[in-house]
Amino acid sequence: MAEHYDAAIIGLGPAGATLARLLGENMRVAAIDKKSPGGEHTKPCGGLLAPDAQRTLSRFNLTLPKAVLVDPQIFAVKTLDTEQRLLRYYPRFYINLNREKFDAWLVSLIPSGVDIIDNAVCTGLRRLDDGMFEISFSQGGAARRVITAQRVIGADGAGSIVRRTLFPKSKIRRYTAIQQWFKEKHATPFYSCVFDKSITDAYCWSVSKDGYFILGGAFPTNGAQERFEVLKNTLTERGFELGEPIKTEACLVSYPRRIWDFRLGEAGAFLIGEAAGFISPSSLEGISYALDSANRLAEVITASGANENRRYARAARGIKAKLLLKYIKSRFMYKAMPRKLIMKSGLQSIKVAE
Ligand SMILES: Cc1cc2nc3c(=O)[nH]c(=O)nc-3n(C[C@H](O)[C@H](O)[C@H](O)COP(=O)(O)OP(=O)(O)OC[C@H]3O[C@@H](n4cnc5c(N)ncnc54)[C@H](O)[C@@H]3O)c2cc1C
Repeated sequence: MAEHYDAAIIGLGPAGATLARLLGENMRVAAIDKKSPGGEHTKPCGGLLAPDAQRTLSRFNLTLPKAVLVDPQIFAVKTLDTEQRLLRYYPRFYINLNREKFDAWLVSLIPSGVDIIDNAVCTGLRRLDDGMFEISFSQGGAARRVITAQRVIGADGAGSIVRRTLFPKSKIRRYTAIQQWFKEKHATPFYSCVFDKSITDAYCWSVSKDGYFILGGAFPTNGAQERFEVLKNTLTERGFELGEPIKTEACLVSYPRRIWDFRLGEAGAFLIGEAAGFISPSSLEGISYALDSANRLAEVITASGANENRRYARAARGIKAKLLLKYIKSRFMYKAMPRKLIMKSGLQSIKVAE
């Protein structure tokens, strides 16, 4: 007999770990994740915690342990339009994190009653005749195992197997994100945000972290690697000090731009975080939406009552509206003329002593 749960969560990133923490006291929960404690963490991320995410953590009454912070904390973003040769600094109040430690900290808050099945890849899902779900996974190379659950929650990020299997028609535009790590050589560490339409119609960034300089960008999947090399050459000409890369990371990243890109699930299946399409198309900031959507779903499930899917769809309307506004903002930021006007005006920028 397969073990049975009230809820099976696939993915223990910020979305899944938050949901497991919030549901774990009230019901039988299984949480499956590919990662294993102390194993290689491969999720490429800028690791910047935006003010919205900070607000959500404070609503949870959670305080960040010092161990997840990195050096240094930076309060401005150097914004470059390399084609139009424009440079401005904008104040930003992110917290600079070690993403791997942040995720591990969120997992450490999950109540002990939750069955955490780590080092386990979910390989398939099936809706059974009685409306339950059968979830298959393989753990550490062992034979396939199966559990059943009343609800299944896809918190498995941009490549979500839950979304692909249960909602195959709900495709979302995805870009390839590439990041490379270098030894930090700049006299003053900095964050940057780079626009160059000849390289990508999205944007590129850099972050300084614990003695490393991380350069990244989101690119149309076709020719992503070549575009990244052009980015490096362009920025080297503009004074960035790169040298030999120490590590290269790549992954797919969702790029929502239409209301139907957001998919919340139906009939006992739910999507949260990036699996639902909840990520900002203007900045690729997604941790806040992962935390927020998990919280909204947990409130729906723990409140008890009929039609959880309909109530979750209603509860998540605010997230969708916010992201659509971000999409409209991205239409201005990613277009040369409006960006030129905004940057030239100096609106909301600050002067930084070079
Ligand atoms: C290059 C890059 C930089 C970014 N920088 C930032 C930033 O600085 N700040 C910010 O707020 N956001 C950033 N984001 C976005 C942010 O990383 C995501 O939006 C956020 O991680 C989404 O959280 P999530 O929990 O929904 O999914 P994820 O964090 O992707 O977690 C998904 C989890 O599911 C697991 N999983 C996936 N498939 C399976 C499977 N088949 N079986 C078992 N487990 C599975 C994975 O191991 C993972 O733990 C960035 C994204 C990219 C690509």
